[in-house]
This record gives sequence, structure tokens and C-alpha cells, in this order.
Amino acid sequence: MSLWKPSSREFSSTIQMATGKSLRRQLALRLLLVFMLVAVMGNVVVFSAYQGLLWSSQKASADDAMTQVRAGFEQAQKDWARNAREVKSEVDFMRIFADDVEHGWLRLRAYFATLEGTVGKFQAGLVLGPDGQPRFQFGQDSTGLSRLVTAQSARAPQAALPAWYFSPEPRLVHALVQEPIWLGPLGQGRLLLMQPIDTAALRALAPPDARLLLVMDGQIVASSAGTTDRGRALDASQSGRRQEGDETVEQRSLLVSQDRALPLHLVLQQTVRSPLSTPWVLGVSTIMLVMLTLLLWVVIGRWATRMTRRVALLSRVTNLFGVQHQITPQMEKDLELAASSPDEIAEVAHSCRDLMHNVLVYDEEHFAYVQTLDILEEGVVELAEDGTYLRASPGWLRLTGRSRNDLDERIYSSLHPSDRDTLQLQLEELFSGTKTSLSGRIRLQRPDAKDVWIEYRFVKGEVRAPIGPTVRGVLRDITQSYQLEKHITHMALHDALTELPNRVLLEDRTKVALRMAQRSGKRVALGFLDLDHFKNVNDQHGHKVGDGMLVALARNLRKALRAGDTLARWGGDEFVVLLPDLTGRDNATEVMNKLAAVCRQPLVIEGNEFNVTFSMGVALFPDDANSTETLLSHADRAMFFAKDQGRNTVRFYGDMENPEQDLKDLYIQNRLATAIKENQIQTWFQPIVDAQTHAVVGCEALARWHEETYGWVSPTTFIPMAESLGLIREIGHQVWTQTVDQLHVWRQMGLDLKVSVNVSRRQLFGASFTADLLDDLDHLAIPSSAVDLEITESLAMEDAEHTTARLLELTHAGFGIAIDDFGTGYSSLSQLHDMPATRLKIDISFVRRVHSEQGAQLIQAMVKIASVFHLQIVAEGVEDAATAETLRQMGVHQLQGYHFGRPMSAADFLAHLQRGGQKG
Ligand code: C2E
Ligand code: CA
Ligand code: CA
Repeated sequence: MSLWKPSSREFSSTIQMATGKSLRRQLALRLLLVFMLVAVMGNVVVFSAYQGLLWSSQKASADDAMTQVRAGFEQAQKDWARNAREVKSEVDFMRIFADDVEHGWLRLRAYFATLEGTVGKFQAGLVLGPDGQPRFQFGQDSTGLSRLVTAQSARAPQAALPAWYFSPEPRLVHALVQEPIWLGPLGQGRLLLMQPIDTAALRALAPPDARLLLVMDGQIVASSAGTTDRGRALDASQSGRRQEGDETVEQRSLLVSQDRALPLHLVLQQTVRSPLSTPWVLGVSTIMLVMLTLLLWVVIGRWATRMTRRVALLSRVTNLFGVQHQITPQMEKDLELAASSPDEIAEVAHSCRDLMHNVLVYDEEHFAYVQTLDILEEGVVELAEDGTYLRASPGWLRLTGRSRNDLDERIYSSLHPSDRDTLQLQLEELFSGTKTSLSGRIRLQRPDAKDVWIEYRFVKGEVRAPIGPTVRGVLRDITQSYQLEKHITHMALHDALTELPNRVLLEDRTKVALRMAQRSGKRVALGFLDLDHFKNVNDQHGHKVGDGMLVALARNLRKALRAGDTLARWGGDEFVVLLPDLTGRDNATEVMNKLAAVCRQPLVIEGNEFNVTFSMGVALFPDDANSTETLLSHADRAMFFAKDQGRNTVRFYGDMENPEQDLKDLYIQNRLATAIKENQIQTWFQPIVDAQTHAVVGCEALARWHEETYGWVSPTTFIPMAESLGLIREIGHQVWTQTVDQLHVWRQMGLDLKVSVNVSRRQLFGASFTADLLDDLDHLAIPSSAVDLEITESLAMEDAEHTTARLLELTHAGFGIAIDDFGTGYSSLSQLHDMPATRLKIDISFVRRVHSEQGAQLIQAMVKIASVFHLQIVAEGVEDAATAETLRQMGVHQLQGYHFGRPMSAADFLAHLQRGGQKG
């Protein structure tokens, strides 16, 4: 359970402390990371692009060089062939073999000798005869070749001559060039010339920046670079890039001899060299990247930094707000800075500001509410369906007399055990939706055992997850007014002197008894008891003794009765006994005798001994009467009969001969209808004065009837009669019309008076009651505020809901509403609270007791209640100046009674007014 706690303004901040620092650090870190990545990848990209470019250019240059070599080699072959043809031509021209062969060989040797050492000329060779056998050889390396050709021609005379020859010593490859030659007498021979492919020959073919190698059978046999490479193994079949020792070369190869015995390749090797060193390339590219990054930093980094700063400001403001719960000028400034550019951050800043302002407003309101709750005497609670507290205000803790820690989980344990079910049942109705609100009263169970009554009002709250439906309630301490009310009720229903039930309670109990007897078929006896010659006691010994006697007698009589019987004080020296549940008249006689026996015992008051006797009249239900009123009046008459019979005796109504009073009632009843029809009902007016100034401020309209035979008939007689005969509306209407006419006359004379009109139940619930009244007033231009309608308290409370609705209608129409005979009904304070009344009229029976201590207390209580409900308070039945003064001091606003004027005819009332409201 949480408490509405107003005493401190602590607010817990749920905002995490995310500082701007971390955001900046993250930004720097990310930028650094990006920079490093860019640096590494950029370098790799730049470097590999550079390499790629380099490689492809080298490849192209190697390919070019190779094309050149191939062309050179082809050209060289052609050159060699031309040279051979030259040799043949020269031999032919010199007619070396013109005559005999022997000389021919000599001359040929001489010819070749002249060629020796000449560049571009052959240094070795063979001459083959027509049979293909070598006939002549010259030059160092020709011996091996001669042997080879001899062997070959022996083996296969028709086979073609080889194109290449390798002389093992000095490991030199020769290209062989053949040319037919005329050998004179020998016939057609063949010239086989050896062109050595040595370093010089390769150098002539090789491009300047490359090395040309002649590879035979995977072994270098000649190189343009000199003799160093010779003998080294080399895979000539592969072209492309390859590693040669510690250098990288671009290699191309050309197959020049496909001879299986002598496979020859010309291999071109170009060393791959980078014009720029790797560190240099990396260095330059790094510098460029750094510059790029710096540029990026200038463009994006500063922007991002500003952004970060703004976000950091925003974060700081919200964090500060979370902690301090206020907006300082500095925070306002920060927010403005954060909102300096029109972007999303600005939007967030604006939203934050709005939100914070809203939060502050809400907090203030909430704080005010909570503080109000704290000072509120009422308890405010919120409950879950099982009665568990969800919240409870400090007021509730004060009411229950518990600290927050002692408060049980559920509300029921704070209630008086006998009231727990009541509230639980009611709350169930609220939760089930049968009702939307409820109110009532219950007792609390406090740790200090103090008796505290509370009044509660619960309404349905919202459904909250995961708790479910809830209710809210306001509970207030009504102990004082409850006790007051109980006290008033008791006083209203009991006699102040003897503490016996009074008339009101008696009538009530009689009604109940009759209803029960009707059902059970039993009898009820009502005895009217009057002390004989009691007036003498008062006169001789004083009122104090008289009162003492009444109290003592009441106590004795009470003791003689059964628990279910009622002894009531009717007034003065009159008592009434109500005996319900009797089987017959004998039962009643028995009790009456018992009471007579009690009376015979002497009473000792202030040392004096008294003997009292009484006369009693008894009426039986259902034998003598079947209503409370008639039962009472018959018992009353039987009592007078008993007195007539010599006092100190009991008489039954049934024993009376010809009870003539009935005839009078019957007569009056018969006359009433005619009297109404003939407009004999008059309206008299009794002044109502201001309690302070005694100036006449208004009057009460009262019905009057003068009957030919019996004279003035009291309204207490004919009004109830008219009510039971259904004639009361007509009387009410006549009184109303006369009153309104009179009011009109007074108003035209300039008299501003407020008239009170008595309204009976039937009138009040007439269909168009309010509209009719307003109509009549409108005709004479009288405002409804000039009229007070008097409703007896018992009428108002009987069907409170229905009555309230009608009274609301009347007050809305502008009429004043007075609760008449206040104190004699059973109104509870809560009902009074809902009653739209404007004034209370204290009943005459209370005014009469104003000089006794209890009576004074009672009236004081009524005045207090009236002031709580903002009602005017009027006292009726003021018969003397002392009473008027006492009531004034007690705070009663207006007074009515014989002391200020009896009810009088309209003419008399006007005269009374003209006399200045003084009694005439
Ligand atoms: P109520 O409305 O309580 O009227 C006040 C009664 O107290 C009046 O009796 C009045 O004459 C009487 N009274 C006023 N001052 C004093 C005083 O100082 N001492 C004494 N002992 N009595 C005083 P009233 O005229 O006999 O009327 C009796 C009741 O009849 C009224 O009680 C009212 O309930 C009813 N009533 C009278 N006129 C009408 C009417 O036009 N319509 C209805 N529905 N009821 C009426
Ligand atoms: Ca009245
Ligand atoms: Ca009254």
C-alpha cells in the first residue's frame, strides 16, 4: 500500500545519467576507427592499384619485347639464308669446282679461310655430296656435325637434314643453313653452314632492358648476359611472371626447334622493377589520406561535435530536471542552445521544455492535492476488490488511530467486527456494477478502543492492470453528530423528566402493535392513566416534589410491566400503557389491577409520604377501535368516564354506554365536506418575527373553520379528517388561493412579507403542483421567493427519495422550503443533508422545554445542525418574553407564537401590523 505523502517534495529520478562526455568519446573513437580503417584500406587500395598498373605495363612491355625478339629472330634466319646464298653465289662465281674436284676442295678451303673472322659470315660448315655424305668440312665445330650427318645418312639416306646442331664442346648451339651447290663433276651437292647462337647472336636479338636466353632441354645454353647463366636449369615452357633467385622476372618463351632430340626455346626475361619504393608509395598515400580525413573532420566532425554538444546539453538539462525538479534560467539557456538549429534535436528540446513545464504544473497540482489530503480531516482511500488498500491518506490513519505500519492490509480489520460484513456486502455491489456509488455509516475498531463512527461514500474507480477494478472512498468522523443525533432522537421520543417514551414513540409502537395483532389475531389494550388530584400536590408541595413523584411513580409502574409493554408519558400527570399480545380482556384487567396495586404503595419524596390514586380508561383492539387514533381517543374518553365514576378506578371503553363523542366526530365529518363546498374554511395568519428586532417579517397561513353547532373546530381535528376523506387538497387549495390574494393586497400596500403555507402529503405529490402554484403567483406578479412551503419532518422523511425530487423542483422554482415540527420525526442527519430545505421549524414541544437543561441542549443542537446545513431556524410556540430571549441568545433566527400574536383573520392581521406588530 502506498500513502499519499505530502510532507516532502522528494521525487525520484528515473533518468539515467548519460553524460555528454561519453557521446563525445564515442564520436572520437568512431572517427579514429574510421580514420584507421580508411588509412589501412586506402593504403592497400592505392598500393595494389599502383602494383596492378605497374604489372600490366610490365606485361605489355614483356609482350612487346617478345614480339620484337620474334621479328628479330625471323629477320636473323632470313639474314642467315641470304648469307648462305651469297656464299653459294661466290663459290659458283669463283668456279671453284670448274674442273676437278680435288682442286675444288682446296680452293673451297681457301675461300672459307678468307671468310674466317669476318662478322656475319659462317665460321664452320659441311659440304655434302650428292649421296648426302659429308665431303668437306671447315671450322672448329664441324667435326661433330660431320659425324652426325654421316651416321644419319647411313641410317636413313632420304631423311631431311637437321636444322639445329648442338656441339657438346664447347656446348654451343648452331642454326644450320643449307644451300644446294654444284660440285662440278661430282654433281649437285649441298652446302650445310653452321650459324652459332652464342652470346653475341642473342645480344643482337635482345631488347636493351631484357635478357635473352637460349634454353635446350631445360638448360640454358646461351645468354645475352654472357656466360654466367650458362648451364643453369630453366623451365622454358612457362611464360609469365616468376621468381628467379631474388628477383622477379617477366618471362616469355619462343619454341624455335621442335626437334625431339634437340628442343630449343628462346626465352626472354625482363626483370620486374618498381620505379617507386613501397614505403614511398605508402607514405604518400598515407599523407593524402590524412589530409582527406582532416578535410572530413573539418566538414563532418565539427558538425557532429556541435550536434553532440547540443545533445549533451539536452541530456544535462533533463538530468538536472530529474534531480531538482525545477527549470532554472541556466537550464532555459541550455535548452535554447540545444534548439539553436531548426532540426530534430531542436524539436526534441522544445518537446522536453513543454514536457518539463507540464510535469511541473502537474506536480504542483498533485502536490496541492496531496497537501490538501493531508490537512483534510476526512480519510481518503483507494481499495482493490478484496478490500486491500491501494492508497490511504493521512486523514484515514488519524481516523483509524493507526500508524502506516500498523495498518492491516485490508480495510475490514479496521472496522468494528459487526460492521465488517455490511461494508463488504456494499462494496461487492459496487464492484459487481449493481451500484455506481454508495454511502453509509459504520463504526471503527481503534487500538485505543475509542468509539468512532464514520460516514463513508464510495464510488467506482478505474480498472487498473494488474490490480483490476478499484473503488475510491471518502470517510469522515461523524461520532459527534451521530451521538447528537442519537441524543436528539432519544429526546424526541422520550419524556425529559421520567425518561419514558413520549407520545410520538407511543403512537409509533401502538401502530406496530396493532399491525402485529392484526396478523396474530391477538388483542392490544391501551390504558389512559390520569393521577387523581395531582394538581393539589404541585400547589401544596411545589413542582419539585410533583416532579419527584412523577419520576418515582413512573419507575414503579414500569417495574410492574412486562418487557414488551410500553409505559409512556402523555403529558402532565397523564400516562399511557400499551399492552400488546393479549389473549383477552381478562389479561388486560390483570395488568391494570397490578398497576393499581403498585399505586397503592406510598411514595416517599423528600421525607414526606404520599399516596396517589389514578383513574384509568382502557380501550381494546380490535373490539373498541381499529386505528391508533381512535384507540387513543376511546381510551381517553374511558378515562374521563372513570373520573366521572368517582376516580381511583379502571373503566373499559366497552363498558361505556352510548359513547356520544363518536356521534360528534361523525357529525363533524359529515359537515366538513359541506363546509369545504361552501367555502367556509377561512385562512388566518400568525405573525413570524425577527428574533433580534421582533419586527414582523412574515406570517404562517393556518386553516380555520367555524361550525354552526360546535363553534371553532381545531385544524388538528379537521385536517386529519380531511386527509382520510380525500378532501385535504380542496382545503389546501382554498387556503392557498386566499393566501395568494392576501399576499397580493399586502404587496400592493407596500408590505414585504413572507408567507408560510402548510402543505400536506397529497398536495405535495399532486401531478402539476409546482406548475399550478407558479401559475397562480404569475397572475398576480408575485415572486415565488415570497412563499415558504411547510412540510412536516415526518412527511419529508417518509419517502425521502421521492420527496427530495419534488422539493428540488420547488426550490428550483424559487420557493422556500421549511421543515415543520422539526425534532418529532426520525430524520437522520444524512437524509437532512440531501433534503433541499431552506429553514427548520423547531417543534413547539421542544420550545416548551427550553428552560430545562436538557431542552436547552437539544435546541442548541438543532441550531448547530441548521448552521451546518446553512438553514434558517425558526421556533414556534413562543409564549413568553423569557423564551423569546433565550431562543434569540441561542441563535434562533425567527420566532412565532402567542407571545407575538395568535393566528388572526386577515383584517386583524393588518390592524396588528399597523399597530407596529404589538399585541392589541
Ligand atoms: P403547525 O403547522 O405546526 O402550526 C402551528 C400551530 O401552532 C398552529 O395551530 C398555531 O396556532 C399553534 N401555535 C402557534 N403559536 C403558538 C403558541 O405560542 N402556543 C401554542 N400553544 N400554540 C401555538 P393550529 O392553527 O391549531 O394548527 C394545527 C396544525 O394543523 C398545524 O400545525 C398544521 O399542521 C395543520 N394545519 C393548519 N392549517 C393548515 C393548512 O392550511 N393546511 C394543512 N395541510 N395543514 C394545516
Ligand atoms: Ca406549520
Ligand atoms: Ca409546527
